[in-house]
Amino acid sequence: MRLANISGRLHLVTPDDHVIDVARETGGHFSPRIQDCYERWSELRSVAYTLEQWRGTPLADVPPASFGNPAPQPRQVFAIGLNYAAHAAEASLAVPDDLTVFTKFVTALTGPHGTISLPPGTVDWEVELVVVMGRGGTGIPAEEAWKYVAGVSVGQDLSERTLQSSGPAPQYSLAKSFPGFGPIGPLLVTPDEFEDPDRIELGCSINGEEIQKGSTSDMVFPVPEIIARLSQVTPLLPGDVIFTGTPPGVGVGRTPQRFLKPGDELLTWVKGVGEMRHLMQ
Ligand code: ZN
Repeated sequence: MRLANISGRLHLVTPDDHVIDVARETGGHFSPRIQDCYERWSELRSVAYTLEQWRGTPLADVPPASFGNPAPQPRQVFAIGLNYAAHAAEASLAVPDDLTVFTKFVTALTGPHGTISLPPGTVDWEVELVVVMGRGGTGIPAEEAWKYVAGVSVGQDLSERTLQSSGPAPQYSLAKSFPGFGPIGPLLVTPDEFEDPDRIELGCSINGEEIQKGSTSDMVFPVPEIIARLSQVTPLLPGDVIFTGTPPGVGVGRTPQRFLKPGDELLTWVKGVGEMRHLMQ
C-alpha cells in the first residue's frame, strides 16, 4: 500500500497509479489529516483493498508541488547517527557499539518539493530512509519490528556542520533542525511493497551530479534493530518518525569539503518510493 499527503489531504495511491481521497470516499470515516491515519493503521489497511477499487485521479496528473510530508506532525522524531560504517569512516568517527540518537525538532519537517533557505554556515546533505511507525509499543523485538512500521519514505537530514561541531559536545539536534532541514516524501510505502525491506537503494544528487548512493543493507543497525533498541528505552508511538542514518558521500567528508549553496538543486531518492527535489536559496 502507498499513501500520499496531497493538498493537505490523505490519499491512497492505487496499484495502477491513481490517487483516492480517503476521507471523501469513506464519507468522512477517516480524517483527511494524514497524521491521524497512523492511530487507526490496521483499520486503514483493512479497507485499503476496497478503496483501491474506486476510480481516482491519475497520479501523473498531480502537480509535484501538491505533495506534502506524509508524516507532518509526529509526536517524536528520532534520528540515528553513524549508521553506515563507510559514513562513520568519512566523518573520522568510530563505528558505534550502540545507537547514536538525536532528534530533528518537528518544525524542521517539510514536504518533498520546494525551496530551502540556507542559514549562514556550512549546510550538508544526508539522504536517509525514513521510517514511520504504525503501531506503538515498548520492548518491541527485532524479529517483529517491521510489523510495527506503517511505511518508509525518502528523507533528507540536512545539517549545518559549523553549529553541529561548535562547543565541547556535538549539537546534532539543533544543527539539523533549521526550518526545512527535514524534508520527507513524496509517498509512504508499506514494507510489504519491497522485495526485501532491509535492502533498499537510496541516493541523492546536486544539479544532476550523483553525490550519494547506497543500500540500507549496509546499515550498522538495520531498521528492526533500531526499533528494538529505541523501544527498550522510550515508547514508540503511532506516526513517530525515524531518520535511519546516511550512507557515505556527505560534503564534510570530502577533500576539499563541499557544501550546499544558493541555486543548487538537491534531488533525493529512495528506490521504490520516489524522489524529492529542493532548490537552495
Ligand atoms: Zn543523518
